[in-house]
Amino acid sequence: ACLQQVLAEPYVIGGVELRSTASIGVVSNHGQYSCANDLIRDADVAMYESKRAGRGSYLVFDTSMRDQVQRQLKLEADLGMAIENGQLSLAYQPIVSLESGEIYGVEALLRWQHPEDGWISPEEFIPIAEDSGLIQNICDWVVFEGCCQLIQWDTELGAAAPNSISLNLSPRQFANFEVAKRVAQVLHDTGVDPSRIVFELTESALMSDPDIAAKVLQRIKDLGSRIALDDFGIGNSSFASLHRFPVDILKFDRSFINGIQEERDLASLVHSIAVLARNLGICTVAEGVEVPEQFLAVRELGCDMAQGYLIAKPLTPDGFAEFAVGQNPAVPSGVGAIIFQNRWEDKIDLSV
Ligand code: C2E
Ligand code: CA
Ligand code: CA
Repeated sequence: ACLQQVLAEPYVIGGVELRSTASIGVVSNHGQYSCANDLIRDADVAMYESKRAGRGSYLVFDTSMRDQVQRQLKLEADLGMAIENGQLSLAYQPIVSLESGEIYGVEALLRWQHPEDGWISPEEFIPIAEDSGLIQNICDWVVFEGCCQLIQWDTELGAAAPNSISLNLSPRQFANFEVAKRVAQVLHDTGVDPSRIVFELTESALMSDPDIAAKVLQRIKDLGSRIALDDFGIGNSSFASLHRFPVDILKFDRSFINGIQEERDLASLVHSIAVLARNLGICTVAEGVEVPEQFLAVRELGCDMAQGYLIAKPLTPDGFAEFAVGQNPAVPSGVGAIIFQNRWEDKIDLSV
């Protein structure tokens, strides 16, 4: 830490004051290393780990770090082949209207079935894809696959097909205009109506370069697609983003929704944001709705839509078709409310 303090001292070059920080990896040798290269390799691993934890810190190496790095390297190598080998798939989670219970759309969630390790969570492999640059190809695949699925449901389900599909975009893609071009190309290739596509991204994706991000988003909007601000309520979410960026949908993070029953402050915050969003013409989705009380609470607080295990877990394409046909037959408007009641009565007492 003392070394870091010294290194953090500002210095002047050409009249400009500069500051830099140091990320340090530490390794101690109690006789287990016989070769300097091994020692340096492990110090390097600890240094990268400390960089990841936040710049300007230090970490002492332990063997779990090496296992972690080895797993990442292995997954990175395997991920490169995953698309070609047909190991990626999308799961679809319904998003329903809190008022009528009708299915508004689905969110596509990426799944990777690894030949040896089984299902691997996107929380683990998306960051690897981002670091290795594979994310671009994966994103293209997700957009393509999602659009094709939507077209297939149209044929199979007719009026019970979801109106829209939400696709997640990675923060790393917002550093340049490439993403808008690629997305436009895939939408064009599949022939899907762009207004049925929602692109979800987190605020952090927009904040590293807000000016470029705003332009990229506008290009996506110009295609006719909509933008959802994902995971709202965690990190440094701010109201400012709602009018700074062309946002159509705001998704309350599930940690936010989890807390509303215990914390009244959170509930009133959700309510205020929902009202503000509505005034700005932005639709709100409560994520991670797991129990009926949460469903009723978010409805009461003025959210427009809900998504979560209570309604359905992420489903296979066939699972979704079954859900849509069983729960949401093609009904004229107005009848939806009755179906809604039938549909939820075993789970929720609507007289509350
Ligand atoms: P996310 O976009 O916030 O997705 C919602 C996550 O919450 C999903 O996890 C979903 O399965 C889970 N979830 C839904 N309802 C509930 C609930 O009621 N309770 C609980 N506890 N969890 C619920 P999943 O599928 O593991 O995805 C995790 C994250 O991975 C996503 O978070 C998203 O950030 C990322 N991701 C998934 N698919 C893609 C993709 O195609 N592209 C990119 N770039 N990221 C993706
Ligand atoms: Ca999402
Ligand atoms: Ca989310």
